[in-house]
Amino acid sequence: MSLGLDFAGKRVLVIGGARAARRVLARYLASGASVYHLAGPVSPGAPAVAGVTTPVYPRSLGAWDTLIAAVDLVAIVETSPGTDVTIAAACARHRTWLTRESAAATAPVGSVTLVGGGPGVEGLLTQGALAALGAADIVYYDRLGPTDRLDAWAPGAEHIDVGKAPGHHAIPQRDAERMLVASALAGLTVVRLKGGDPFVFGRGGEEVLACRAADVPVTVISGVTSAIAVPAAAGIPVTHRDITRLFTVISGHAPISDTELTHLVGLNGTIVVLMGIGTLQQLVAGLSRLGMRTDMPVAIVERGFAHDQRTTLGRLDTIAGLAAGAGVRSPAVVVIGEVVSLASHGDDAAAALLREAAELAG
Ligand code: SAH
Repeated sequence: MSLGLDFAGKRVLVIGGARAARRVLARYLASGASVYHLAGPVSPGAPAVAGVTTPVYPRSLGAWDTLIAAVDLVAIVETSPGTDVTIAAACARHRTWLTRESAAATAPVGSVTLVGGGPGVEGLLTQGALAALGAADIVYYDRLGPTDRLDAWAPGAEHIDVGKAPGHHAIPQRDAERMLVASALAGLTVVRLKGGDPFVFGRGGEEVLACRAADVPVTVISGVTSAIAVPAAAGIPVTHRDITRLFTVISGHAPISDTELTHLVGLNGTIVVLMGIGTLQQLVAGLSRLGMRTDMPVAIVERGFAHDQRTTLGRLDTIAGLAAGAGVRSPAVVVIGEVVSLASHGDDAAAALLREAAELAG
């Protein structure tokens, strides 16, 4: 249940060990509250989060009364049964709100969740993605995932960029896998936030295997893949009744072989190419050489869902020249097939409908 209470300027006293309470502390801090933290009578511990005040631990009923009368809300994460009774009674006396919150996991081994973040816009983040981010101690992200409001989605977490600039890997994949595993083995709840879906050219499979090899519990939260959502954002449905009943998603990271090209032409369906800008010329020349009609509509959608999203429309025999002339760059999705005509002419109603859906999502 979310009551949407406004905590800005409110004084919130969080009670519980620094590690168990770290996420609760972070959440109240992010809400704009003035946060006070009592770790415990014996080992107060350092504040888990900067900006938190640690009052002197109350040693008498009177001291508890004074402290609790001075705050608006008490959040108990963990305490002894006796102290719990004392706190509850003091809250009742002073009409201070009392809530009980669950402790962050302190199990010796944490976990890794691979989260598909969709094509970069908040509206296409799933509820599962948001829940996983909210529970994270540490988030490894890269430039293709949605990161605009990472501070709000994962307020209790450390954020680490393992992004890869085009053509050069900032952090090699094996090192990124080692970092995920090491964090989980240190007991942290780890999220690996990825663009689109983790299992669509996202190297998610390799990360799952790395976790399994280290006996680290790993789960995957699927995301909305750019292979479908980015064409849709440009008004292109990857399938359309009476036009095509299949679509193939292929990586253009490395040149596509003649055998693959022959199959693609033979399928006579929509072809969606990710990471395809570097090999565009080779792809369209190959498709044309192996029998695809040269006037087949082609679209290139750059930076889907960004404020400067751009679509370049052409045909199999003109698109390479148009793309070079327009200075088309990655990230972009290439769509080859009759459905592309829905974006520009033909089925105007369908195109309008899809644009509307994409706008709602954005
Ligand atoms: N796992 C991701 C794909 C990773 S490969 C997914 O399911 O979407 C990276 C490629 O995805 C990019 O080179 C580009 O082809 C495509 N891509 C991802 N996000 C995009 C966006 N917002 N706009 C255009 N292309 C995008």
